[in-house]
Amino acid sequence: MWNNFKNYLSHSKIFVKEIVLLSLVFLLSASFFFHYPIHKIISLLFLTFVIDIVFLYSLGKKRALEIDEIKTTIKNIRKNKYNSPNEIQMSKSLVDLEGNIKAMFKRTQRDITQMQKLEQTRKEFLGNVSHELRTPIFALQGFLETLLNGALYDEKVNKQFLEKAYRHSENLNALLNDLIDISMIESGQMRMSFRYFNLNNFLNEIYQQVKEPAERKNIQFILNKLDPDLDVYGDKDRLTQVMNNLLSNAIKYTEKGRVELIVEEKQKSVWIKVKDTGVGIPQEDLNRVFERFYRTDRDRSKTIPGTGLGLAIVKHIIEAHDSKIEVVSDKDVGSEFSFKLKKHKD
Ligand code: ADP
Repeated sequence: MWNNFKNYLSHSKIFVKEIVLLSLVFLLSASFFFHYPIHKIISLLFLTFVIDIVFLYSLGKKRALEIDEIKTTIKNIRKNKYNSPNEIQMSKSLVDLEGNIKAMFKRTQRDITQMQKLEQTRKEFLGNVSHELRTPIFALQGFLETLLNGALYDEKVNKQFLEKAYRHSENLNALLNDLIDISMIESGQMRMSFRYFNLNNFLNEIYQQVKEPAERKNIQFILNKLDPDLDVYGDKDRLTQVMNNLLSNAIKYTEKGRVELIVEEKQKSVWIKVKDTGVGIPQEDLNRVFERFYRTDRDRSKTIPGTGLGLAIVKHIIEAHDSKIEVVSDKDVGSEFSFKLKKHKD
C-alpha cells in the first residue's frame, strides 16, 4: 500500500514544480487580498499541501497505469503475441499512441516479410548459381579426365572430346558473364549511356551477326524494311545485348520456319519485335520466363544450352529504358518478344 503510494507519487515527479508554484501563488494571493492572519495562512498552507499530495497521487497513478499499458504492449510486440495490428488495443487516453504503435507494427511486419523474402531469394540464388556452375564444370572435368586416361591418343575421339570440353568452357564463360551482368544490374552498378542512334544501322549490324547461326539451322532470318533515317533513344551497347539475347533465343528455340525482326513506328515511339515460328512457351510459363534462372521444364530437361538468365537481363535493361518487355506466345506456333523505344522528334 505504502509502496504503491510512493510509486504513484514518484510518477508525478515531473509536475511537482508547477504544482508547488501554483499553490504558492494561490497562498500569496489569498493572504494578500483577504489579509489572512498568520494562523489561517498556516492552516491554508497545510490544506494546500494535502490537496497537492492528493492531486499528485492521482496524476501519478494515471501516468503509472498508462506507462504500464505501453510497456505491456511493447513487450507483447517483442514476444510476437500479436498477429495483426488490430489486436493492439489501448485505453481511450492513449488512442493517438495506439495509432502510432499500430503503424509501427505494420511497418515492422512488412520489413520482416521483406527480409524473409530477400533471405529466401539469396538462398535460391546461391543454390541456382552452384547448380548451374556444376553442370559445365563436371562436363569439362569428365572430358579432360577421359582424355588424360588415354583417350588423348585415340584419334577417333580425342578431337571430339576436346571440342566438347571447349564448348562447355564457353558455356561456363557465358554463365559467368551473365552472372556478372545480373549482379551489376541488381546492385545498381551497371552504368547506362543513353543517346540517340540510327536504328537502321543498328539492326543491320545485328542482322549480319545473327544471319549465319540462323542459316546454319536452316532458319529464314528476315529483317523487315524500316525508315533509314529513324533515330531512337537508348544505350546502344545494352540494347545490342538485348537483341542478341532475344534473337539467339528465337533461333535456339526454333526448329524450322523463320525468325523475323519487325520495326513498327508509332507517333512518339518505335516498337521492336522479335518473332519466331518456334516451339513457343506454355501459357503457365509466360510470366515466369523473365525470372532469373527460370527455364521451362521442357528446356531444363533438354540439352539446349542456356542459363535462364538471358531474359532476366533483357527485362532489367528494357526497364532501365523506361519501357517494358512483352511476350505473346503459343505452344508449337511461336513467340513474339517486343519492347518500345523513344523516337527522335523531327
Ligand atoms: P536460356 O538461357 O535458358 O535461354 P532465357 O532467360 O533467355 O534463358 O529464357 C528463359 C526460358 O524462356 C528459356 O529457357 C525457354 O524455356 C524460354 N524461352 C525464351 N525465349 C524463347 C523463345 N523464343 N521460344 C521459346 N521459349 C523461349
